[in-house]
Formats: sequence, C-alpha cells, structure tokens
Amino acid sequence: MATNPGHRPEDHAFVLPAATIAGTTFFAATGEARSAICNAATGETIGWQEHATAELVDRAVHAARNALIAWRHTTPAARGRLLRKIAELLEADRERLSAMQMQVSGKPRFEADLDVSDAAATFNYYASLCDDASMFAAESVAVPDDTLQAERMHEPMGVAALIVPWNFPMVTTAWKLAPALAAGCTAVLKPSELTSPTEHMLAEIVSEAGVPDGVVNVVNGGGDVGAWLTAHPLVDKISFTGSTASGRKVMQAAAQDMKRVTLELGGKSALIVRADADVAQAVTLAVGGAFANAGQMCSATARILVHDDVYRKFMAAFETAVRALVVAPPDHGGAAMGPLISAAQHARVTALVAEGVEAGAQIAFTGKLDSACADGFFMAPVVVAEPAANNTLWTDEVFGPVACVKSFRSDDEAIALANDTRYGLVATVATNDEKAARRYKAQLRAGLVWINTPQLIFPQVCWGGFGLSGIGRELGVAGLRSYQELRHAVGLRA
Ligand code: NAD
Repeated sequence: MATNPGHRPEDHAFVLPAATIAGTTFFAATGEARSAICNAATGETIGWQEHATAELVDRAVHAARNALIAWRHTTPAARGRLLRKIAELLEADRERLSAMQMQVSGKPRFEADLDVSDAAATFNYYASLCDDASMFAAESVAVPDDTLQAERMHEPMGVAALIVPWNFPMVTTAWKLAPALAAGCTAVLKPSELTSPTEHMLAEIVSEAGVPDGVVNVVNGGGDVGAWLTAHPLVDKISFTGSTASGRKVMQAAAQDMKRVTLELGGKSALIVRADADVAQAVTLAVGGAFANAGQMCSATARILVHDDVYRKFMAAFETAVRALVVAPPDHGGAAMGPLISAAQHARVTALVAEGVEAGAQIAFTGKLDSACADGFFMAPVVVAEPAANNTLWTDEVFGPVACVKSFRSDDEAIALANDTRYGLVATVATNDEKAARRYKAQLRAGLVWINTPQLIFPQVCWGGFGLSGIGRELGVAGLRSYQELRHAVGLRA
C-alpha cells in the first residue's frame, strides 16, 4: 500500500492518501480532515484516512476526462484483457486482501474470502462480455421502409463517479468499476472512509494490471467528498450504493446536469417459510439472510414470515441455531458472525432496538457474545416475535443483526405482508411446492427472488430493486448498458 511514511511520526498506524489521481498519490496539507480507520473487532485505530478537498475532487474529475479521450477508443478486447488481469491479480493477492478485510471490518475469514472471490468473478464476467463482439457492435434495426436502414449503437457515457458504502468494500466497487471500464468509461471512485484500505489495494491492483493512469482515480473522505463529486459538471454518470437518504441527495445533485444515475439503496426484505418447507433448511436460510455480515446487508431478509402450522417448530429450531452462532473476532476459530462496522453503527442499531421495544416489540430470544468480543463493536443477534405492523423494527431498515418473525395463514396473506414495504430489493421463499413457488416469483415485488437457496449472487444475474431500494440494475448485461448511451442512426439504404 502506498502510504506516507514520513507523515505524522507520532503515529505507528498507516496513513492513506486523500486521493490518487492519474497515478499520483496526494496527501492532505496539515490541518485538513482525516478520519480514523478502526479494527471493528477490537475498536483500535489501525490507520488514518486523509480526506480529499474540493480541489482534489476537481483534479480527479479532470484527470478522468483527459484519460477518456484515449480510453473510449480502446477495443473492447483490449479492455477485457485488462479486466481479466485485474481478476488474476485479485486472486493472487487473496491472502493479503482477505487479511485486510478481516482486520478492518472484523469479518470472519469465510466472508472476507467470499468478498475477494466475488470481486474477481465480477471482473472476469465483464472481461467475458468484452470478448463478445456483439455486445459492442452496431446492430441493424428493422424499420417499415425498404429505402431506409437503421442501426443501434452503444457508446460509453463518459466519466463515471462511483460511490460505495462500507459493508462490502471491493465487491460493490467491482460491481461498478468492472462494467464502467468494460463500457469504455473512465472513473472517479469514492470509497467509504471507514473501509478504504482494501479499496486502496484494489486501485493499486488496477494500476498494476496496466490500466492507464487517469482511467481510474480515487478520492477519499465522507459525504462531503461524495457530494462534490456528484455535483461536478464534468461527471456524466453516477453509480451510488448507500442509504436511501443519501441516494435522494445524489439524485438531486444529478438533476442539475441530467447526469445518468444508478442507485442501489436500502431494503427491508422478506423470507417466507411455507407450511410445506423443510424447516431445518428454512432456519439455515433465516440465519444467513438475517445475520450474514452481521446483518449489515441491503439484502437482509429481516422480515421472516412463517406459516402458522410450522411456526412453533421453526421458532424452536431458529432459537437453537441463533444461540449456537459464534459471534467472535475473525481470528477466533469458528467465528460465524463479526462485529458492526463502527461504534456509531453499534449505537444506532442498539437505539433502534430500544425504540422498537419501547413501542411494544417483544424480543423472543437473542444470541450470545463470545468472551473475546469485549472491545469491538459486537452485538448479539436479536429476534423479535410478532411486532406490530407499524413497529419500526418491522418497517425500517436496521442494518444490523435484528430479525422480526411474523406468522401467516395463507399465501395471499404472506404475499401481502412481504409486499407491504416501500422497499423491494430481494425476497426468499422456502417451499417444496413448485406451483406455489411460481406464484411467489410472479407476485413478490422484489428485484431478485431466491427459492430454497441462500443469497447466491452471480455477476450474470442483475441486482437492484423497486421503490426506495433504488433505480436501475447492476451486474449482468444491464450493468454494462448502464454505463453506455444508446444511440440510433437512420439513413438511406445504399
Ligand atoms: P451512506 O449513504 O451513508 O454512504 C454511502 C456512501 O455515500 C459513502 O461513501 C458516503 O461517504 C457517501 N455519501 C454520503 N452522503 C453523500 C452525499 N450526499 N453525496 C454523495 N455521497 C454521499 O450509507 P452507508 O451507511 O455507508 O451504507 C449503508 C447503507 O447502504 C444502507 O442503507 C444499505 O441498505 C445501503 N446499501 C445498499 C446496497 C444495495 O446494493 N442496494 C448495498 C450496500 C449497502
């Protein structure tokens, strides 16, 4: 990692640059903003992230603009070779990347490893789209006049601002950066200041792979840095992942110049357990859906709907599973759930639980904390039974290890309850009835529905949701198209 060794000698911790622009790292002048990077499992400060100024953001956007002139004219095949090289280098650096992911976020090793695998798979997938000439070639369009010919073309949108949160650093970035580069766009990335070390490593890998200077630039800091970027008139496209509240501000900023936007925002998704479901499998889906990544997932299925006939059996098995979940630091053998990302997030989730309980929600059971959790931002899983329909724990995104369970008596009721939200990101259904599965797939208002499977995410399958969950789709071919403008030409047939 490029750090500033001579900087603030009182710190033994690393210091990450405020920006990397056209291959050059920039450190902030003394007195400018910086924030601590913590180890979420111990609460210790392990490094410092310097924050970019508005001037550095402007320089980064200009660097991306300058690099666009050549980059947009590279062949898709050449871009694909670079993307495949990035994937190879990510795999080769897996140990270091996973270790940093664990050290910062406190994720268990299997989750940190999965992040590296997902990022590499995404670069490989968009490399394969680059190899497919039909993705980029002009296509003819039939028009009802024999004397005319029409064609459809896709061209790069230009400079893409990529803004990502802290819950899956590197993965969310890969979902944006790989299709942006494949499309021929240049980029300015703004990682979360809480989890920038692995993003910094990824940017170094991109450079090492041979992506020309200026094609990918990084500006670091918080919401103000993101806001400068989204307001910049030379940015053509914004791809943002984060909270719905920030998403609204991004959309407002984009409106000024009619920038194209993709917004991946929050969720309050449902897991539906039908009476015919395999209850043991449903419990596994419930634990993974609500407590993977300590529940800090936009796709958390934190509203669990269970048919009356299997409710008691489900709750008994769910309690056993939750109590057996090892919540511990990543170096603790058997760790299955890590901490929340920060003290602030811990305080926020704890307050939301207290508020829900104050309003009448009943905690059915909680998980346990390992004795090694004393210093980090750990929270034991919480399961609430039968909250009122207007209880905030049932209605609002918590983004922590809190699940609510409600019973239902009919498919109509389950579908109505699942769809009774302004979000609409994902849903999971546990059933052994194929006809019922077809009905749920058709009627659940969610961008992605899983039937009897954990939350499998493939780069080939698009991601994104309805309503407050955002606008547009990432991954898949739609992910590539979201960085391209669609154009047509009509002329006399030769
Ligand atoms: P956040 O909205 O606070 O921040 C996300 C990113 O946006 C950060 O990099 C932040 O610095 C930046 N940002 C904040 N305000 C901004 C502004 N006004 N303009 C531009 N950038 C700004 O979210 P968070 O707390 O980092 O992440 C948690 C949220 O992200 C949750 O609500 C979660 O549901 C959502 N999320 C959604 C998805 C998805 O794919 N739908 C994936 C992961 C996280």
